[in-house]
Amino acid sequence: MYQERPYLERNWDLFPFPPGEVDALLLTHAHMDHSGLIPKLVKEGFSGRIIATAASAELLPIVLMDAARLQEEDAAFKKKRHQKEGRKGAHPEVPLYTEADVEKALPLVETIAYGKTLSLEPSLSVVFHDAGHILGSAMIEMLAGEAGKTARLIFSGDVGQWNKPLVRDPSVFEAADVVVMESTYGDRDHRDPIDPQALLAKIINETVEAGGNVVIPTFALERAQELIYHLGRLVRTKRIPQLMTFLDSPMATEVTEVFEHHPEFLDEEAFALFKSGQNPFRFPGLKLIHSIEESKAINRIKGSCIILAGSGMCTGGRIKHHLVQNISRPESTILFVGYQARGTLGRQILDHAAEVRIFGRNLSVKAHVEEIQGFSAHAGQSGLLEWLGHFRLRPSYLFLTHGDKDVSHGLADRLAKEGWNVHVPDYGEEWEIKLV
Ligand code: ZN
Repeated sequence: MYQERPYLERNWDLFPFPPGEVDALLLTHAHMDHSGLIPKLVKEGFSGRIIATAASAELLPIVLMDAARLQEEDAAFKKKRHQKEGRKGAHPEVPLYTEADVEKALPLVETIAYGKTLSLEPSLSVVFHDAGHILGSAMIEMLAGEAGKTARLIFSGDVGQWNKPLVRDPSVFEAADVVVMESTYGDRDHRDPIDPQALLAKIINETVEAGGNVVIPTFALERAQELIYHLGRLVRTKRIPQLMTFLDSPMATEVTEVFEHHPEFLDEEAFALFKSGQNPFRFPGLKLIHSIEESKAINRIKGSCIILAGSGMCTGGRIKHHLVQNISRPESTILFVGYQARGTLGRQILDHAAEVRIFGRNLSVKAHVEEIQGFSAHAGQSGLLEWLGHFRLRPSYLFLTHGDKDVSHGLADRLAKEGWNVHVPDYGEEWEIKLV
């Protein structure tokens, strides 16, 4: 699913292939940009198999139901606005898909374990490998062809970062004929002045000293759980005081429960905590907020607290209410821990706007604005190069996808100089892979 301008319109286009003729869909992970159009695909005729890991299969209903609700709200809002303005928009005022469409898609999901070979056709089999990106994320290996003439294709999905506490390190490969790799951070690394956990402690302690709140816009899937994990660790090791900490996102709470169901997907450190009888996603002071009333009650708390709420880029959700309460308080801190797309409220605040508009009110930005980059779920440039570095022989083809055009081309130029046969395919471009 396209989530950024100027590509949003493409979500409404017909698929560039007949969905009814597709036999199987291989899902790398549950993030919206990878899974968000599944209900539309089913609506337009797909009735094949959807292959995903068990954790992805459990996250998918949460992510897609949330998306359907947002689509339905958006359509209603658009209708109201168009009626008020007496005009018609480019698309009918209907949601891209509804909760009922999601219900139809979910029964098609089949789970696959990491490392197991699944034969889809006599001449095509697939293996899922841990991508180390989010819970249940996968890189997909495909073996195509007949005996003695098999091509091996590796599809990276989103490549995770090394040495993260919750997810394992990304899988690496030594040989392939064709590699399709993402290139989101193909031009840069995530840079923090100090280790991200130490930076988190420093920002919290300084805000507590000043008497303010720490407000963290949080993506519900993975980032929220990772932050809770780090906060719990800081509290247990007494590097921050025990504060009231609120996870004010019903979706993040649901996702956290999936993490608790699947400790076997977690990295050693988090898994060891589970085994010792401790839950890495609970710590003294943490409260998971469900109702709007509970959410509003946070405003009445005296003294410092930590508030995690969605949406991650401040474009909607409960975070906006917490920003209204805190953004003009010099003692509070707004802490960004994820990517802020151009044009979003989050990006405006991060770019030090003097004033922002929230719920029709102009508010001056007096709170501290901080950023931690190291919690990103994506490998930075050096991580991508490291991942490629494990191939002992250069693949016949390397395709770079999933990046801003200039970023992907920048990385491609660099790799071409090092002798890679690398391409950045255009949207809709077709390649014929010749087996040698
Ligand atoms: Zn992703």
